[in-house]
Amino acid sequence: MDIKPLHTWLTSTKEPLLISGPCGAESETQVLSTAEQLSKIPQVALFRSGIWKPRTRPNAFEGMGETGLKWLQTAKQQYGLRTTVEVANAQHVELALKYGVDVLWIGARTTVNPFSVQEIADSLKGVDVPVMIKNPIHADLQLWIGAIERIHQAGIDKIAAIHRGFHYYGKHKYRNEPIWKIPIELRTHLSQLPIICDPSHIAGTRELIQEVAQQALNIGMDGLMIESHTDPDKALSDAKQQLTPDALRKLVSDLVIREDKPTNEGHKEQLDEFRKLIDEIDESMMDIIQKREDLIRLIGMYKKDHNITVFQLERWQEILKTRAQWADKRGISRVHSEKLCQLLHEESIRIQNELFN
Ligand code: PEP
Ligand code: MN
Repeated sequence: MDIKPLHTWLTSTKEPLLISGPCGAESETQVLSTAEQLSKIPQVALFRSGIWKPRTRPNAFEGMGETGLKWLQTAKQQYGLRTTVEVANAQHVELALKYGVDVLWIGARTTVNPFSVQEIADSLKGVDVPVMIKNPIHADLQLWIGAIERIHQAGIDKIAAIHRGFHYYGKHKYRNEPIWKIPIELRTHLSQLPIICDPSHIAGTRELIQEVAQQALNIGMDGLMIESHTDPDKALSDAKQQLTPDALRKLVSDLVIREDKPTNEGHKEQLDEFRKLIDEIDESMMDIIQKREDLIRLIGMYKKDHNITVFQLERWQEILKTRAQWADKRGISRVHSEKLCQLLHEESIRIQNELFN
Protein backbone atom coordinates (compact mmCIF):
# COMPACT_ATOMS: atom_id res chain seq x y z
CA MET A 1 0.00 0.00 0.00
CA ASP A 2 1.45 3.32 -1.04
CA ILE A 3 0.84 5.72 1.83
CA LYS A 4 2.33 9.22 2.08
CA PRO A 5 4.42 9.94 5.18
CA LEU A 6 2.61 11.97 7.82
CA HIS A 7 4.97 14.95 7.58
CA THR A 8 3.88 15.54 3.96
CA TRP A 9 0.43 16.60 5.18
CA LEU A 10 0.62 17.21 8.92
CA THR A 11 3.33 18.79 11.05
CA SER A 12 3.60 20.73 14.27
CA THR A 13 6.36 23.09 15.26
CA LYS A 14 7.07 21.09 18.42
CA GLU A 15 6.74 17.43 19.40
CA PRO A 16 4.51 15.55 20.03
CA LEU A 17 2.19 16.20 17.12
CA LEU A 18 -1.23 17.04 18.52
CA ILE A 19 -4.76 17.10 17.18
CA SER A 20 -7.02 18.87 19.59
CA GLY A 21 -10.37 20.56 19.91
CA PRO A 22 -13.75 19.88 21.43
CA CYS A 23 -15.61 16.60 21.24
CA GLY A 24 -18.37 18.61 19.59
CA ALA A 25 -18.82 22.13 18.22
CA GLU A 26 -21.51 23.60 20.48
CA SER A 27 -21.49 27.36 19.89
CA GLU A 28 -19.54 29.87 17.88
CA THR A 29 -17.98 31.33 21.04
CA GLN A 30 -16.91 27.91 22.29
CA VAL A 31 -15.35 26.96 18.93
CA LEU A 32 -13.55 30.28 18.46
CA SER A 33 -12.23 30.63 21.99
CA THR A 34 -11.00 27.00 22.05
CA ALA A 35 -9.32 27.50 18.67
CA GLU A 36 -7.73 30.76 19.83
CA GLN A 37 -6.22 29.11 22.92
CA LEU A 38 -5.10 26.01 21.04
CA SER A 39 -3.45 28.06 18.30
CA LYS A 40 -0.98 29.22 20.97
CA ILE A 41 0.14 25.65 21.74
CA PRO A 42 2.95 24.88 19.25
CA GLN A 43 2.31 21.13 19.31
CA VAL A 44 -1.24 21.54 17.95
CA ALA A 45 -1.24 20.79 14.21
CA LEU A 46 -4.93 20.28 13.64
CA PHE A 47 -8.14 21.56 15.21
CA ARG A 48 -10.72 18.81 15.65
CA SER A 49 -14.43 19.04 16.26
CA GLY A 50 -17.42 16.76 16.03
CA ILE A 51 -20.12 18.29 13.81
CA TRP A 52 -22.34 15.21 13.57
CA LYS A 53 -22.17 13.26 16.82
CA PRO A 54 -23.06 9.55 16.78
CA ARG A 55 -24.79 9.13 20.14
CA THR A 56 -25.55 5.86 21.90
CA ARG A 57 -29.04 6.95 23.00
CA PRO A 58 -31.48 9.27 21.19
CA ASN A 59 -32.27 12.80 22.36
CA ALA A 60 -28.67 13.53 23.32
CA PHE A 61 -26.69 16.34 21.66
CA GLU A 62 -26.27 15.21 18.06
CA GLY A 63 -24.04 18.00 16.81
CA MET A 64 -24.65 21.31 15.07
CA GLY A 65 -24.30 20.12 11.48
CA GLU A 66 -23.70 22.71 8.75
CA THR A 67 -23.90 25.64 11.21
CA GLY A 68 -20.91 24.20 13.07
CA LEU A 69 -18.92 23.91 9.85
CA LYS A 70 -19.22 27.68 9.39
CA TRP A 71 -17.73 28.22 12.86
CA LEU A 72 -14.83 25.94 12.00
CA GLN A 73 -14.23 27.88 8.82
CA THR A 74 -14.10 31.12 10.81
CA ALA A 75 -11.75 29.54 13.37
CA LYS A 76 -9.44 28.48 10.56
CA GLN A 77 -9.44 31.96 9.00
CA GLN A 78 -8.91 33.75 12.31
CA TYR A 79 -6.37 31.49 13.99
CA GLY A 80 -4.68 29.71 11.08
CA LEU A 81 -5.45 26.25 12.43
CA ARG A 82 -6.18 23.51 9.93
CA THR A 83 -9.38 21.62 10.74
CA THR A 84 -10.69 18.07 10.91
CA VAL A 85 -14.19 16.67 11.42
CA GLU A 86 -15.78 13.24 11.69
CA VAL A 87 -17.71 12.08 8.63
CA ALA A 88 -20.09 9.14 8.62
CA ASN A 89 -21.65 9.32 5.16
CA ALA A 90 -21.29 10.86 1.69
CA GLN A 91 -23.34 13.93 2.58
CA HIS A 92 -21.02 14.70 5.51
CA VAL A 93 -18.04 14.44 3.17
CA GLU A 94 -19.64 16.78 0.65
CA LEU A 95 -20.47 19.41 3.29
CA ALA A 96 -17.11 19.16 5.07
CA LEU A 97 -15.30 19.73 1.77
CA LYS A 98 -17.65 22.59 0.86
CA TYR A 99 -16.62 24.40 4.04
CA GLY A 100 -12.91 23.82 3.51
CA VAL A 101 -12.27 21.17 6.17
CA ASP A 102 -8.63 20.05 5.70
CA VAL A 103 -8.68 16.49 7.01
CA LEU A 104 -11.57 14.05 7.46
CA TRP A 105 -11.84 11.31 10.03
CA ILE A 106 -14.00 8.23 10.21
CA GLY A 107 -15.31 7.44 13.69
CA ALA A 108 -15.21 4.12 15.49
CA ARG A 109 -18.94 3.54 15.04
CA THR A 110 -18.59 3.99 11.28
CA THR A 111 -15.46 1.89 10.76
CA VAL A 112 -17.46 -1.14 11.92
CA ASN A 113 -19.77 -0.84 8.91
CA PRO A 114 -18.24 -1.66 5.50
CA PHE A 115 -21.30 -0.20 3.70
CA SER A 116 -20.74 3.20 5.33
CA VAL A 117 -16.98 3.11 4.79
CA GLN A 118 -17.53 2.21 1.12
CA GLU A 119 -20.05 5.03 0.74
CA ILE A 120 -17.46 7.47 2.12
CA ALA A 121 -14.74 5.97 -0.08
CA ASP A 122 -16.93 6.34 -3.20
CA SER A 123 -17.64 9.97 -2.35
CA LEU A 124 -13.89 10.61 -2.11
CA LYS A 125 -12.98 9.42 -5.61
CA GLY A 126 -11.00 12.14 -7.37
CA VAL A 127 -10.65 14.19 -4.15
CA ASP A 128 -7.26 14.87 -2.58
CA VAL A 129 -7.98 15.07 1.14
CA PRO A 130 -6.26 13.26 4.01
CA VAL A 131 -8.41 10.76 5.90
CA MET A 132 -7.87 9.38 9.39
CA ILE A 133 -9.54 6.12 10.27
CA LYS A 134 -10.37 5.25 13.85
CA ASN A 135 -10.33 1.62 14.89
CA PRO A 136 -13.70 -0.15 14.97
CA ILE A 137 -15.36 -0.20 18.39
CA HIS A 138 -14.60 -3.89 18.88
CA ALA A 139 -11.16 -5.47 18.67
CA ASP A 140 -11.14 -6.54 15.02
CA LEU A 141 -7.87 -5.69 13.29
CA GLN A 142 -9.02 -7.04 9.92
CA LEU A 143 -12.06 -4.74 9.91
CA TRP A 144 -9.79 -1.78 10.67
CA ILE A 145 -7.41 -2.76 7.86
CA GLY A 146 -10.42 -3.31 5.56
CA ALA A 147 -11.62 0.26 6.15
CA ILE A 148 -8.11 1.60 5.47
CA GLU A 149 -8.00 -0.41 2.23
CA ARG A 150 -11.40 0.89 1.09
CA ILE A 151 -10.27 4.50 1.55
CA HIS A 152 -6.92 3.77 -0.09
CA GLN A 153 -8.59 2.09 -3.07
CA ALA A 154 -10.61 5.27 -3.60
CA GLY A 155 -7.29 6.95 -4.44
CA ILE A 156 -6.53 8.53 -1.06
CA ASP A 157 -2.86 8.20 -0.11
CA LYS A 158 -2.74 10.59 2.82
CA ILE A 159 -4.04 8.23 5.45
CA ALA A 160 -3.51 7.80 9.19
CA ALA A 161 -5.02 5.35 11.64
CA ILE A 162 -6.36 6.53 14.99
CA HIS A 163 -6.20 4.12 17.89
CA ARG A 164 -9.03 4.98 20.31
CA GLY A 165 -9.28 1.71 22.22
CA PHE A 166 -11.86 -1.05 22.16
CA HIS A 167 -15.21 -1.46 23.84
CA TYR A 168 -15.44 -3.56 26.93
CA TYR A 169 -18.55 -4.55 28.74
CA GLY A 170 -19.08 -3.29 32.25
CA LYS A 171 -17.10 -0.88 34.39
CA HIS A 172 -13.33 -0.74 34.08
CA LYS A 173 -10.53 1.67 34.88
CA TYR A 174 -10.58 3.02 31.31
CA ARG A 175 -13.61 3.73 29.14
CA ASN A 176 -12.12 1.69 26.28
CA GLU A 177 -9.51 -1.04 26.49
CA PRO A 178 -6.26 0.03 24.80
CA ILE A 179 -5.10 -3.51 23.75
CA TRP A 180 -1.76 -2.05 22.62
CA LYS A 181 -0.85 -5.21 20.74
CA ILE A 182 -3.48 -4.34 18.09
CA PRO A 183 -1.93 -1.02 16.93
CA ILE A 184 1.44 -2.78 17.19
CA GLU A 185 0.15 -5.52 14.88
CA LEU A 186 -1.23 -2.86 12.55
CA ARG A 187 2.21 -1.22 12.45
CA THR A 188 3.85 -4.58 11.73
CA HIS A 189 1.40 -5.17 8.90
CA LEU A 190 1.34 -1.66 7.36
CA SER A 191 4.68 -0.20 8.35
CA GLN A 192 4.28 3.15 6.51
CA LEU A 193 0.88 3.90 8.02
CA PRO A 194 1.02 6.71 10.61
CA ILE A 195 -0.79 5.81 13.82
CA ILE A 196 -2.19 8.48 16.11
CA CYS A 197 -3.46 7.64 19.56
CA ASP A 198 -6.65 9.13 21.01
CA PRO A 199 -6.03 8.84 24.76
CA SER A 200 -9.22 10.83 25.53
CA HIS A 201 -11.55 8.10 24.29
CA ILE A 202 -9.39 5.35 25.80
CA ALA A 203 -9.17 7.00 29.23
CA GLY A 204 -12.72 8.33 29.50
CA THR A 205 -11.76 10.53 32.46
CA ARG A 206 -9.37 13.46 32.28
CA GLU A 207 -7.17 12.24 35.15
CA LEU A 208 -6.15 9.16 33.17
CA ILE A 209 -5.29 10.84 29.86
CA GLN A 210 -1.68 11.58 30.80
CA GLU A 211 -0.73 7.98 31.51
CA VAL A 212 -2.41 6.68 28.36
CA ALA A 213 -0.78 9.39 26.23
CA GLN A 214 2.62 8.53 27.69
CA GLN A 215 2.13 4.83 26.94
CA ALA A 216 1.25 5.73 23.36
CA LEU A 217 4.48 7.70 23.00
CA ASN A 218 6.43 4.91 24.68
CA ILE A 219 5.41 2.50 21.93
CA GLY A 220 6.23 5.04 19.22
CA MET A 221 2.87 6.34 18.06
CA ASP A 222 3.11 9.28 15.65
CA GLY A 223 0.82 11.73 17.39
CA LEU A 224 -2.05 12.25 19.81
CA MET A 225 -5.67 13.34 19.44
CA ILE A 226 -6.85 14.89 22.71
CA GLU A 227 -10.21 16.55 23.29
CA SER A 228 -10.27 20.05 24.76
CA HIS A 229 -13.06 22.36 25.78
CA THR A 230 -13.05 25.81 27.37
CA ASP A 231 -15.50 24.65 30.05
CA PRO A 232 -15.23 20.84 30.08
CA ASP A 233 -17.75 20.18 32.86
CA LYS A 234 -20.44 21.91 30.81
CA ALA A 235 -19.60 20.08 27.57
CA LEU A 236 -22.63 18.60 25.79
CA SER A 237 -20.75 15.36 25.07
CA ASP A 238 -17.80 13.58 26.71
CA ALA A 239 -17.68 16.12 29.57
CA LYS A 240 -15.61 13.89 31.86
CA GLN A 241 -12.75 13.40 29.44
CA GLN A 242 -12.23 16.90 28.02
CA LEU A 243 -9.39 19.15 29.15
CA THR A 244 -9.13 22.92 29.17
CA PRO A 245 -6.51 24.17 26.70
CA ASP A 246 -4.38 25.15 29.73
CA ALA A 247 -4.57 21.62 31.16
CA LEU A 248 -3.69 20.28 27.73
CA ARG A 249 -0.62 22.51 27.55
CA LYS A 250 0.52 21.25 30.96
CA LEU A 251 -0.18 17.62 30.01
CA VAL A 252 1.89 17.76 26.83
CA SER A 253 4.76 19.59 28.47
CA ASP A 254 4.94 16.77 31.06
CA LEU A 255 5.11 14.05 28.39
CA VAL A 256 8.44 12.37 27.83
CA ILE A 257 9.25 12.33 24.12
CA ARG A 258 11.15 9.26 22.98
CA GLU A 259 13.22 8.62 19.86
CA ASP A 260 11.86 5.88 17.63
CA LYS A 261 15.43 4.93 16.71
CA PRO A 262 18.53 5.78 18.77
CA THR A 263 20.60 8.47 17.03
CA ASN A 264 23.45 8.49 19.56
CA GLU A 265 26.23 6.00 18.60
CA GLY A 266 26.93 5.03 22.21
CA HIS A 267 23.26 4.24 22.85
CA LYS A 268 23.15 2.19 19.65
CA GLU A 269 26.19 0.13 20.67
CA GLN A 270 24.88 -0.44 24.18
CA LEU A 271 21.50 -1.56 22.84
CA ASP A 272 23.23 -3.92 20.41
CA GLU A 273 25.13 -5.49 23.29
CA PHE A 274 21.97 -6.00 25.33
CA ARG A 275 20.28 -7.45 22.26
CA LYS A 276 23.08 -9.97 21.75
CA LEU A 277 22.42 -11.25 25.26
CA ILE A 278 18.70 -11.51 24.51
CA ASP A 279 19.55 -13.40 21.29
CA GLU A 280 21.62 -15.90 23.27
CA ILE A 281 18.83 -16.42 25.79
CA ASP A 282 16.22 -16.86 23.05
CA GLU A 283 18.40 -19.34 21.20
CA SER A 284 18.91 -21.45 24.31
CA MET A 285 15.16 -21.21 24.91
CA MET A 286 14.67 -22.81 21.47
CA ASP A 287 17.06 -25.63 22.50
CA ILE A 288 15.00 -26.20 25.63
CA ILE A 289 11.74 -26.18 23.70
CA GLN A 290 13.20 -28.67 21.24
CA LYS A 291 14.16 -30.99 24.14
CA ARG A 292 10.69 -30.56 25.62
CA GLU A 293 9.02 -31.43 22.32
CA ASP A 294 11.19 -34.56 21.93
CA LEU A 295 10.00 -35.66 25.33
CA ILE A 296 6.39 -34.82 24.48
CA ARG A 297 6.67 -37.12 21.43
CA LEU A 298 8.11 -39.92 23.58
CA ILE A 299 5.28 -39.55 26.09
CA GLY A 300 2.79 -39.42 23.20
CA MET A 301 4.06 -42.74 21.82
CA TYR A 302 3.85 -44.26 25.28
CA LYS A 303 0.26 -43.05 25.74
CA LYS A 304 -0.67 -44.41 22.32
CA ASP A 305 0.92 -47.83 23.01
CA HIS A 306 -0.92 -48.08 26.32
CA ASN A 307 -4.26 -46.61 25.21
CA ILE A 308 -4.08 -43.53 27.41
CA THR A 309 -5.78 -40.26 26.36
CA VAL A 310 -3.65 -37.36 25.17
CA PHE A 311 -5.28 -34.83 27.51
CA GLN A 312 -4.89 -35.57 31.20
CA LEU A 313 -6.90 -33.13 33.31
CA GLU A 314 -5.16 -33.81 36.62
CA ARG A 315 -1.70 -33.42 35.09
CA TRP A 316 -2.75 -30.16 33.42
CA GLN A 317 -4.08 -28.78 36.71
CA GLU A 318 -0.86 -29.77 38.40
CA ILE A 319 1.18 -28.03 35.67
CA LEU A 320 -0.78 -24.82 36.10
CA LYS A 321 -0.37 -24.90 39.87
CA THR A 322 3.33 -25.70 40.06
CA ARG A 323 4.33 -23.32 37.25
CA ALA A 324 2.41 -20.51 38.95
CA GLN A 325 4.40 -21.21 42.14
CA TRP A 326 7.68 -21.30 40.21
CA ALA A 327 6.77 -18.03 38.49
CA ASP A 328 5.91 -16.39 41.82
CA LYS A 329 9.25 -17.45 43.28
CA ARG A 330 11.05 -15.73 40.41
CA GLY A 331 8.91 -12.60 40.30
CA ILE A 332 7.50 -13.51 36.87
CA SER A 333 3.97 -12.28 36.25
CA ARG A 334 1.31 -14.98 36.79
CA VAL A 335 -0.60 -13.88 33.69
CA HIS A 336 2.54 -14.24 31.60
CA SER A 337 3.51 -17.63 33.01
CA GLU A 338 -0.03 -18.93 32.56
CA LYS A 339 -0.11 -17.76 28.93
CA LEU A 340 3.22 -19.45 28.34
CA CYS A 341 2.00 -22.73 29.88
CA GLN A 342 -1.20 -22.56 27.79
CA LEU A 343 0.88 -22.13 24.65
CA LEU A 344 3.25 -24.99 25.48
CA HIS A 345 0.38 -27.26 26.49
CA GLU A 346 -1.63 -26.48 23.37
CA GLU A 347 1.35 -27.40 21.19
CA SER A 348 1.99 -30.57 23.22
CA ILE A 349 -1.60 -31.68 22.67
CA ARG A 350 -1.29 -30.95 18.96
CA ILE A 351 1.95 -32.92 18.67
CA GLN A 352 0.57 -35.92 20.57
CA ASN A 353 -2.73 -35.86 18.66
CA GLU A 354 -0.76 -36.02 15.44
CA LEU A 355 1.06 -39.14 16.69
CA PHE A 356 -2.31 -40.76 17.43
CA ASN A 357 -3.57 -40.31 13.88
C1 PEP B 1 -14.96 11.53 18.92
O1 PEP B 1 -13.79 11.60 18.50
O2 PEP B 1 -15.52 12.45 19.52
C2 PEP B 1 -15.68 10.26 18.76
C3 PEP B 1 -16.98 10.18 18.61
O3 PEP B 1 -14.84 9.23 18.85
P1 PEP B 1 -14.99 7.65 18.57
O4 PEP B 1 -15.44 7.51 17.14
O5 PEP B 1 -13.61 7.18 18.82
O6 PEP B 1 -15.96 7.11 19.57
MN1 MN C 1 -15.75 12.56 21.99
